[in-house]
Amino acid sequence: MDLLLTDDERAFRDRVRAWLETHVPGEPRPLGDLAAGREFDVAWQRELAAAGYAGLSWPREYGGAGLSPVEELIFHVESAAAGAPDLGTLFVGLAHAGPTLIHAGSPEIQRQFLPRILSGEDIWCQGFSEPGAGSDLAAIRTKGVVDGSVLVVTGQKIWTSYAQVADRQELLVRTDPEAPRHQGLSWVVADMDTPGIEVRPIRTAADDHHLCEVFYDEARIPLERVVGDLNNGWRTAMTTLSFERGTAFLAEQVRLRQRVAGLAEYVDHPGAPPDAAARWARASAAADALFAMSLRSISEVRRMGQPGPAASMVKLATADAERVVGELQMDLLGPDAVWVNELSRGWREQFAYIFGGGTPEIQRNLIGERMLGLPRN
Ligand SMILES: Cc1cc2nc3c(=O)[nH]c(=O)nc-3n(C[C@H](O)[C@H](O)[C@H](O)COP(=O)(O)OP(=O)(O)OC[C@H]3O[C@@H](n4cnc5c(N)ncnc54)[C@H](O)[C@@H]3O)c2cc1C
Repeated sequence: MDLLLTDDERAFRDRVRAWLETHVPGEPRPLGDLAAGREFDVAWQRELAAAGYAGLSWPREYGGAGLSPVEELIFHVESAAAGAPDLGTLFVGLAHAGPTLIHAGSPEIQRQFLPRILSGEDIWCQGFSEPGAGSDLAAIRTKGVVDGSVLVVTGQKIWTSYAQVADRQELLVRTDPEAPRHQGLSWVVADMDTPGIEVRPIRTAADDHHLCEVFYDEARIPLERVVGDLNNGWRTAMTTLSFERGTAFLAEQVRLRQRVAGLAEYVDHPGAPPDAAARWARASAAADALFAMSLRSISEVRRMGQPGPAASMVKLATADAERVVGELQMDLLGPDAVWVNELSRGWREQFAYIFGGGTPEIQRNLIGERMLGLPRN
């Protein structure tokens, strides 16, 4: 990487590189066993925290590493080059729940939860999508009824990643059924061991069972767990999604470039498609272009403190690049594309990066409306 780094940034890169050399675990993250995966992620998070690298972009006053966006990028590039683990089960807490609490949580909520995210003590999951509300998130029907000082929650969420190993959930519920649909929602912190909350894993083709349905049967959640005011949850949820669409997937973008590099050796294997080299070049260009867009997004974060609407462009480019690389990988490796090694893990995970945080069509709608000023219809 040559970003014309300053002397300080180069010194930071050298420190990170030296630290990674001696700390990256020798064993890969265990696949298929979620509890073991959680243990592995937490152990790595403890190492990071001890070295001052927990919560890379979180401000220091909240216990984070307080890195600048460029330092954060350096950290991700060096981590990927060193084969360091990704956030795994800690993704939701570190990448968007924590940042949302920093932005919109009360000091009490921040004190209660942020240190536990940074130390790896609490795993978070995201309870936004429902069977009838994915892209159209404002259609959620899971209801929260105020009863004295608690919110009584009844309904169902779906596609909740890692719910079965999570301690907390960022949960979006409808608290005012009479209000216009964007105005009657609340964003609340749920404890996953609350009586009335039941998690049922969904078996998928990827066979890692991390997706779940979550059912709520009059689960009682203290009202003080509402983040960003009762009935103001849409605004809080948009903050969450802006982090999820912004720089949250930076590490994965660095890994996508590695995945393309890893495919180079298969391009002239016997049995490779005749246009394999040209397609590899296109895949490589797509991954590089995505990375360049992320750099742009980083400078936006530096100016505005939070990813703006351009985050949707990065999200869309991520989906395109993942698709181009994924198709090439399948054509080059056949069934091995799916199951054999780190490359295969990337192939299986591509769908999370394509659909999670909003599908490509939804990002196109957002770009049309918010950046190009096109009419909603
Ligand atoms: C691997 C993975 C992990 C996930 N993890 C979580 C999680 O942890 N927590 C969570 O809450 N959710 C999670 N999700 C859910 C994800 O956010 C939803 O899948 C996504 O929002 C799409 O919703 P849907 O699946 O209901 O599809 P739908 O909204 O039903 O969309 C179906 C198709 O219609 C298109 N479409 C819908 N509306 C429009 C429109 N207005 N204009 C144009 N096209 C449209 C979509 O683009 C899509 O192609 C995860 C999803 C995946 C794949």
